[in-house]
Amino acid sequence: MDCLFVHSPKFNNYYRPLGAYTFINYMPMGVLALADLLTREGYETEVVHLGVEWIEDRGFSLLDYIGRTHPRIVAFPLHWHPQAYDVMEQARQVKEAFPEVFVLLGGLTASYYHREIVEQFSCVDAVIRGEGEIPLLRLVEAVRNSGALEQVPNLTWRRGEVVCENPLAYCASQEIVDGLCFTNFTLLKNHRTYIDWVLMPFFVKGFSKERNRLFFSLKTRMFDLMIGRGCPVNCTWCGGGRDAQRLIAGRRQVIFRDAERVLDSIREALRWGYETMHVCFDPYPQQPDYYLKLFARIREEALPVEFFFESYGLPTREFVDAFARTFGPRSLLALSPESGVEEVRRRNKGYAYTNQELWDCLAYIRDKGVKVDLFFGLGLPFERAEDLQETARLITRIRRHFPNVQGIRTFTIEMEPGAPWQRHPERFGIETNQLTFSDFSRIIKRKRRDLARSAIIYPGTSLISVRVPGRHSNRGCRRSGAAVFVLSIPMPAGRAHRSGGGCSAAPRP
Ligand code: SF4
Repeated sequence: MDCLFVHSPKFNNYYRPLGAYTFINYMPMGVLALADLLTREGYETEVVHLGVEWIEDRGFSLLDYIGRTHPRIVAFPLHWHPQAYDVMEQARQVKEAFPEVFVLLGGLTASYYHREIVEQFSCVDAVIRGEGEIPLLRLVEAVRNSGALEQVPNLTWRRGEVVCENPLAYCASQEIVDGLCFTNFTLLKNHRTYIDWVLMPFFVKGFSKERNRLFFSLKTRMFDLMIGRGCPVNCTWCGGGRDAQRLIAGRRQVIFRDAERVLDSIREALRWGYETMHVCFDPYPQQPDYYLKLFARIREEALPVEFFFESYGLPTREFVDAFARTFGPRSLLALSPESGVEEVRRRNKGYAYTNQELWDCLAYIRDKGVKVDLFFGLGLPFERAEDLQETARLITRIRRHFPNVQGIRTFTIEMEPGAPWQRHPERFGIETNQLTFSDFSRIIKRKRRDLARSAIIYPGTSLISVRVPGRHSNRGCRRSGAAVFVLSIPMPAGRAHRSGGGCSAAPRP
């Protein structure tokens, strides 16, 4: 085999009411497309999802599988930072058992920390930075033919003791993305399990597949529909915003897939048994032309599909009209006001709006009979403890007036690699212990009793937000996948101190 992709969730997570669970069970949507591209170019490849294997066979051994399939390259997507520890541990074991195998990493987190990873983790032979289609093809070709790695764009690799950074020369055009296939599930081992039972980013270990579906999913098979790449704005917390994508992937502009190719994906996803398309790509919420055309084509084709659409701002009336006309009663729009305080929203969100604009929009959506999910954040930059009360009051008012708002979720905000507040914490009035890849990996490894050590402290305020390590974040837009658990602890004024030293105000088992 030329290339074996291995998706590793974060395996050790614990939340008291539910017990142990696996996390980051969704694969980045590009993995199947990369595997399909290699296959079409004549290379033998397969995707193994270690969470799916765990569901089907508790005794599954990646090392035994590699021993049987003999891949030249084992490629680990390291897109979301909660995977960091597990991916590096798997990479270490693979390299120890099979030193001749070329161990490769890719994805946003690996790309952001490419140099540190290749310098400090000898088990990793190379990282492909940014977008991976052509670099991966060139790499597979080079590894198969013992060719020169200097020719592989976007590659950071080790020549002896020297770390080499090839130029970041590749970023996909629309033409290339239009040529990709995101639905070749035949390449994924045990794909039926992935389609039928991986319905949320987490999977509670002590529950059966059926009970996981019953208690924790939206009771629909939801396909992450690829629409395009890039974002024109920077939300303060997001590692997938404009500047981060430029830095990590060299992406300077937003691209949309041709709508006909998107329709192909929807048809194929429906054939695989998916029912709902999850869309988290809305770079121009006030210019909905692309979606108006796409929805019109879905109506023309009479495709029996539901949509879960996450808006980056507020949808226009035209968009809401078209959405209501196109989709059924199980579809919904997700909006992320983040805060009840307009000033906090304005300072943090790429597409901000006033509370009155939010209210008017919710009223219009209600009158059109469309369901809504709302997302709020805790621990936003510049947010004060009293702002949380304002957010709580807004939530109460919304609950009273909008029966179509079916879910209101409030999460602490993750510190993501490459996000503005992670790169420049001083500009946001925070101190953080999550600066390097090793910081992320170390924090993620810790068990629940060490939660306090992954806190963000707001000096001079009475606010400390403590994140459950490993909340899902899409990096596209962070709301993807109905994230999980939240714990936030008001701290007596004057008690805040530098994170990393622990915090006595935090709970201990
Ligand atoms: S959260 Fe969404 S809108 Fe904001 S920067 Fe990230 S991708 Fe763009």
